Amino acid sequence: MTKFVDLRSDTVTRPGTAMRKAMSEAVVGDDVLGEDPTIARLEETAAEMFNMESGLFVASGTQGNLLALFSHCQRGDEYIAGQTAHNYLEEGGGGAILASIQPQPVANELDGTLSLDHVKDLIKPDDFHYARTRLLCLENTWHGRPLPLNYLDDACALSREHKLALHLDGARVFNAAVRQDVSVSRITSRFDSVSACLSKGLGAPVGSVLCGSRNFIDNARRWRKVLGGGWRQAGVLAAAGLFALEHHIERLAIDHHHATLLAESLAEIEELSVDDFPERTNMVWVEVPQWSLATLEPNLRKEGVLISMDDYPLRLVTHLDTNEADIQIATRIFKNFFSKKKST
Ligand SMILES: *Cc1c(COP(=O)(O)O)cnc(C)c1O
Repeated sequence: MTKFVDLRSDTVTRPGTAMRKAMSEAVVGDDVLGEDPTIARLEETAAEMFNMESGLFVASGTQGNLLALFSHCQRGDEYIAGQTAHNYLEEGGGGAILASIQPQPVANELDGTLSLDHVKDLIKPDDFHYARTRLLCLENTWHGRPLPLNYLDDACALSREHKLALHLDGARVFNAAVRQDVSVSRITSRFDSVSACLSKGLGAPVGSVLCGSRNFIDNARRWRKVLGGGWRQAGVLAAAGLFALEHHIERLAIDHHHATLLAESLAEIEELSVDDFPERTNMVWVEVPQWSLATLEPNLRKEGVLISMDDYPLRLVTHLDTNEADIQIATRIFKNFFSKKKST
């Protein structure tokens, strides 16, 4: 099998030998009966890291965000989220379909924050013409950028003032913490709930954790069962998540370094315009010329480099299964592609 350099997403990693060993040795039980010790340990570990009372192991980031909507809001309530936030734009409208919760999107600023003045204006007065605004959702990292810590303080103050719950879609919150050189709880402890993916940069094959108060998690556990998400002996999966929390957080700095190398080398290609985020984590955003849109992906694939054309600008993501040699290979193949075009 050819080894591809896969820059499509950090979801593509495969569990390595040590993680598989941890999975095979996991002590398991029926988690619907509360009898899987490995799941319990994962939930406690995550809650402790986030400085929250309780945790819940869930199938995906989408499920974690959906359960947060179910648990913070009632039918007819409203949540505020970014116009390009995953939990508004890319989760199939689950909150509206399944929980009768209305989204109120607000345009993301260039750095991914939501203008708190705009948010304030969108909070509805207590009047039966309006849905009840209950929840503010932020996303961190946003397009690979950590949200500034002082912004999080301000968002927290606003949500307290207006009695909104505050949820963090922290699919890649560990990337933010490593990049900002703070403990993850420095980011998460001001939120009422946090959902974080184990299956992205952390390299587990499946799963996310949702954390919050005991009461919030009891509620979310109930809704998870309703949605068909009750686990049986899923400790084999939780063991991978625990392994990831124990071994794969600090090494995210390596992914960030690789993304920086990639950005610097691609910036040397005249036809490309590469983002210059000062606080880069594991993503590089690249504008490519119009003429290359149809041919770039298949040409790179032929040479063993996988990219996704789902986003524009093009998003390249580094992860556990990309090493420095892969970055050099990818750079060389990008350079070849554009220099060949120039000479024809
Ligand atoms: C990937 C992602 C999710 C959803 O995670 P899945 O496990 O793919 O459902 C949610 N939010 C953000 C910001 C993500 O990147």
